[in-house]
Amino acid sequence: MAKATTAASDTSKYTSEMFQAIIDKCEGCDRIVEADTTRFCRTYTAPAAKWRLGFCNFATHAKPEILAVAARVNPLKASKRAANKAKKK
Ligand code: SF4
Repeated sequence: MAKATTAASDTSKYTSEMFQAIIDKCEGCDRIVEADTTRFCRTYTAPAAKWRLGFCNFATHAKPEILAVAARVNPLKASKRAANKAKKK
């Protein structure tokens, strides 16, 4: 019985106009809930604002690509480091 009350209050939370509908980029996210035929985000009230500066950090369906940049190695310093390691052993 308590569970039904919780579910009813959850949907009323989304339809109270505090929450805005999801945007296209949210499609496929696991945090989407549907209330009164409109789909809302369970986590954020304004999903469009989360995507304004790039990826939504709570999106479950999309992650930003992280580019691995090869570190530059100075050959002189590398040889000194290797020599120091050899001395310690
Ligand atoms: S967590 Fe982000 S991507 Fe998922 S529905 Fe909410 S705003 Fe959209």
